[in-house]
Formats: sequence, C-alpha cells, structure tokens
Amino acid sequence: MEFCPKCGSRLEPKKSKNGKEASIVLVCPKDGFTKEPGKKAEPPKVGKVIQHNPTQLVAVIGKEEQKLRTLPTVRIECPKCGNNTAYVWQVQTRGSDESSTQFLRCTKCSYTFREYS
Ligand SMILES: [Zn+2]
Ligand SMILES: [Zn+2]
Repeated sequence: MEFCPKCGSRLEPKKSKNGKEASIVLVCPKDGFTKEPGKKAEPPKVGKVIQHNPTQLVAVIGKEEQKLRTLPTVRIECPKCGNNTAYVWQVQTRGSDESSTQFLRCTKCSYTFREYS
C-alpha cells in the first residue's frame, strides 16, 4: 500500500496510458499526486538558481569607483546640494562639429549635471 507523500492519503491505482504502453499508476484522490509503481517519487523540480557572484559584483563597483576617483575635480557649486567640488569629464557629441560637452558630478551627492559655458 502506498501513501501520498504530500497529504498522506492512500493512493488509488489507476490505469494510465503512458505513450504506447498502458500502465497502472497510483494517484492521490485528494491532490492528484501521481506515482508510477517501480519508480521512485521524484522531488519537485526546482528551477536552476542563478547565483550572482557577490565578490564579482563588488569588484565591478570598486572598478567604477576607481574610475571616478581618477577623474579630475573642479570647484563648482552643485545645483542640488551646494557642495563646491565636482568630478569633471568631457563627452564628445557626435555630429555636432565635434564639440564636447563637459559633464560634472558632485563628489558629495553624485548629482550629474552639464556645464553650459
Ligand atoms: Zn495527496
Ligand atoms: Zn551635490
């Protein structure tokens, strides 16, 4: 006699057509749990857990921070928090006479803004 591993009900034998062969399977009348005799009940399949590598993530952030630290700073007032130091870098704008826009990022609140001069 077999019992449902989920709810403990007695499994009832039922005819089941599995491919070409008709076989008897044991079915739980309560929740439909099916067990094929002779086969071990398989644990429920769990989707593959994608593990993010935390150390890798930290390394990436560290790199980004390092990149920022190497940027030159200028004395300019942050329009957001009033801090007077900001990182500065230039971005080439395509198609507009090769002019470059100066970007600034506040060292305190990381607010990024452009300098119009
Ligand atoms: Zn059951
Ligand atoms: Zn700021």
